Amino acid sequence: MAHRGGCHCGAIAFDVDASIEGVIECNCSLCSKRGYLLWFVPRSQVTFRAGEHASTVYRFNKHHIAHHFCPTCGCAPYAAADAPDGTPTIAVNVRCLDGVDVHALDIKPVDGRSC
Ligand SMILES: [Zn+2]
Repeated sequence: MAHRGGCHCGAIAFDVDASIEGVIECNCSLCSKRGYLLWFVPRSQVTFRAGEHASTVYRFNKHHIAHHFCPTCGCAPYAAADAPDGTPTIAVNVRCLDGVDVHALDIKPVDGRSC
């Protein structure tokens, strides 16, 4: 099943060709402030329709995760990094997917604050 997502103003838009599973809610300093609910998918399952290079990138801590956000509307629809096995991976913020009821998802808490 494909999901359509992006930022609020439409500058960043993408499709994710996968079923939502394994969503996490992390309590680290950035995830808690942004309200991220993250779903990790291989980069190969994400197709950008707009704005792959339009976003601003924020990095913190070890700087290996690129947290993309829209410089116009401020939404943060995804982050990008390589998985430990080297696979390019996108962490999709399911709050930025169209038509997804986040309260119906099975969301796993992750204690990123203690990492
Ligand atoms: Zn935007």
